[in-house]
Amino acid sequence: MVLEEQTSDSRLRHLALFGGEATLEEGPPTWPLPDESVQHALKSAFADGSWGRYHGPHVERLEASLAEYHAVPHALACCSGTFAVELALRALKVKAGDEVILAGYDFSGNFRSIEAIGARPVLVDIDPLSSSLDVSLVEDAIGAATRAIVVSHLHGGIAPMSTLREIADRRGLQIVEDACQTPGGRVESRRAGAWGDVGVLSFGGSKLLTAGRGGAIVTAREDVFQRAKSYCEQGNNAFPLSELQAAVLLPQLQELDARNVIRRKNAAFITKQLRGVNGLVPVDQIPLESAASFFKLAWLFDEEAWTVDREKFLAAMQAEGIAIDAGFRGFIRRGSGRCRRAGELMNSARAVDSTVLLHHPVLLEAQSTIERVVAAFRKVHRAFSASIAK
Ligand SMILES: *Cc1c(COP(=O)(O)O)cnc(C)c1O
Repeated sequence: MVLEEQTSDSRLRHLALFGGEATLEEGPPTWPLPDESVQHALKSAFADGSWGRYHGPHVERLEASLAEYHAVPHALACCSGTFAVELALRALKVKAGDEVILAGYDFSGNFRSIEAIGARPVLVDIDPLSSSLDVSLVEDAIGAATRAIVVSHLHGGIAPMSTLREIADRRGLQIVEDACQTPGGRVESRRAGAWGDVGVLSFGGSKLLTAGRGGAIVTAREDVFQRAKSYCEQGNNAFPLSELQAAVLLPQLQELDARNVIRRKNAAFITKQLRGVNGLVPVDQIPLESAASFFKLAWLFDEEAWTVDREKFLAAMQAEGIAIDAGFRGFIRRGSGRCRRAGELMNSARAVDSTVLLHHPVLLEAQSTIERVVAAFRKVHRAFSASIAK
């Protein structure tokens, strides 16, 4: 007993949270990367004056590149991913009073974008191992007023889009596919975003393609593209991506595939190394022939197995120099005045309570750093599980 107590105390004392040495003493890597190609783009936007103009070559070039990259005829850049979801719904002619299916656990802005056009979210549970909409529950959620589905690929999981596409086509629904967290990801035979009637991208400051702010839609539908364009252009172009933003995104798009390969390899390594840790369930379910691009690497954290709460675990990991945080708050507590619930949202509730997310920048680091990330998890796990033994 005495021996166990000493062991656990000394292990706890080794945690950076309690004054020990941090595993990544340099802290988590910063984002964005200091890319020379981005610096060059900034200089040339300065040299040609496009940085200060309404119109120039960069936005057009970016839209053409995004369309080509997603193998669709159209892309339209705009001010944010959140606005891009709203724009997508407007372009799909979703109106006030219509219903839009949405996962009970998703990015909060997606709920607001549906509300912004006066439509009503219909909440469907998620598949806990993909963090994304459970497509087997979608058919039963469809009502007379249901017009569209917003589906997000979250945290390294991927929704089975060919199945969802088949349901939507058969039931006359349209899809907004939120690829903000998996740009360049492969979803079965297509790029993430290319299965939706509209695909949505974000260029926010933490995202894999970043301009600080910004977003885009991609679509194969001419009618949808034209409606989105005229909505943006009415009166003034009030929701634009700037020339300067487009200029810094172009070189990043060039690097995206190569970086996704590295992120994927390191994410797979970390997931594999930690698979045996009791109370840490990886969120990595993807359809066959698919590959995520890891804006986040996620697990479900089981407080009972760890005997510490998620907050304490996160604090201990952060003190070790790891950028890890809790997941979304989800919509499980939203009242019936604001949305309709299609069934129980048990997996969404579990995701809200237990998701932990490792932020992506570390996934581009050298193997030795990746190994230290694994070591930090192990160190924190050993310390807390030793304290259980008391
Ligand atoms: C980041 C994000 C968005 C859009 O975010 P913006 O900051 O508005 O560009 C939308 N959906 C998901 C899932 C996201 O992670």
